[in-house]
Amino acid sequence: MKLHILVVLAVYVAAACAPEPEISSADVERILSVLSGDSMGGRDILTPGIAKAESFIQSEFADIGLETLEGLEGFAQTFPVHSLTAKSQKIELNGSVIPEDRVAAAVSQQSIRWMSPDDVNIVVVGSDDDLREQFFALRGRDGNTLVLVHDSHQQFFDGVRMFLSRPRYVLGLNGSNMVMVLTRQASIDSLSVELESELSTESLTNVVGVIPGRRSEEIVLFSAHHDHLGIGRPVDGDSIYNGANDDASGTTAVIALARYLEQSGKPERTLMFATFTAEESGGFGSQYLSQQLDPDQVVAMFNIEMIGKPGVENPDLVWITGFNETDFGEILQQGLATDTGYTFGPDPYPDQGLFYRSDNAVFARLGVPAHSISTTSMDSDEDYHRPSDEIETLHIEHMMRTIEAIALGAGPIISGRATPTRVDPENLN
Ligand SMILES: [Zn+2]
Repeated sequence: MKLHILVVLAVYVAAACAPEPEISSADVERILSVLSGDSMGGRDILTPGIAKAESFIQSEFADIGLETLEGLEGFAQTFPVHSLTAKSQKIELNGSVIPEDRVAAAVSQQSIRWMSPDDVNIVVVGSDDDLREQFFALRGRDGNTLVLVHDSHQQFFDGVRMFLSRPRYVLGLNGSNMVMVLTRQASIDSLSVELESELSTESLTNVVGVIPGRRSEEIVLFSAHHDHLGIGRPVDGDSIYNGANDDASGTTAVIALARYLEQSGKPERTLMFATFTAEESGGFGSQYLSQQLDPDQVVAMFNIEMIGKPGVENPDLVWITGFNETDFGEILQQGLATDTGYTFGPDPYPDQGLFYRSDNAVFARLGVPAHSISTTSMDSDEDYHRPSDEIETLHIEHMMRTIEAIALGAGPIISGRATPTRVDPENLN
């Protein structure tokens, strides 16, 4: 009996002495400086630099003591991506051969063979139509589409053609195909369209770790993208696009949050920490993870992007894209203890469509209350997508406070006391 009391006492004393979990600015700086260092080479997909970043994140997750996603051996979630490069094309419309420089194609199959107008949806873009708008609307359209573009649009068409001549990455080889032809023809009686592409298959890697909660089927997802633009056009003699803010800062936040929440005791909901590959080149990492989960089980997604700098106009604002699509932002506002000095609010740049421009959009389209969280002034940031996006331009103390604010704001969702409303995909652009 006495021994029993002693044991209970010892447990109490140990609990009282255990350090309060905290976000440490030294840890934030350490992680950020590794991820944004020149040795990572700007973390472009399919380079040794991004592989180094992925190993580093995996070792952090292991050190924290996260568990792996069901079905995976480790924290790496590796998946194939296919690259297609145009090899040959033969196109005849109404019996006349179309020259190569009047064809632009976005295909997701190695061989295309259309022999009759019945094989395709034909869309005509006349001289008065807006080609730019049509191009973005048609690009993701299912099935086979042939677009007849009036030759008054030559200039924009040439830009599209250049853009589409680069290798094209696709997750699956059975998606949509779009062929655009610059022509005066607006009705087609006969056609033959044959395109061949060079196919190669590469692998990409997300890093995913889990803290299992009491409710295994309710997931709170914290994410960021660890890829960036790699090595490119030099600016002032620097050609490494370090992406310290975009998005080593978010990746650092995900790791710091994992450590903090692992130390905070068993959560009610299951917490998932994901750093995505290939955000900058098509969002393949988030697409792949979304296909491996049941989106209905994802209660909320905190996608953290560019929190390395305080906003110029309102330095204490942590803004949330798509604020009005769900009540996620209001829940965060309520969960935030006032002593951080930070507030959550709507994205100040609604015209930039940021809600649709990051990995959260993939999950939002599946109904998940999935939002990106940021602090950088997107209208005036001089380092965005430039080699000067380096750690020296970031504000470590601000990052630490922002991560703290996210942890506190997420409290009611993690504990199961609050559940954000879902996105209605029909309302999205
Ligand atoms: Zn980004």
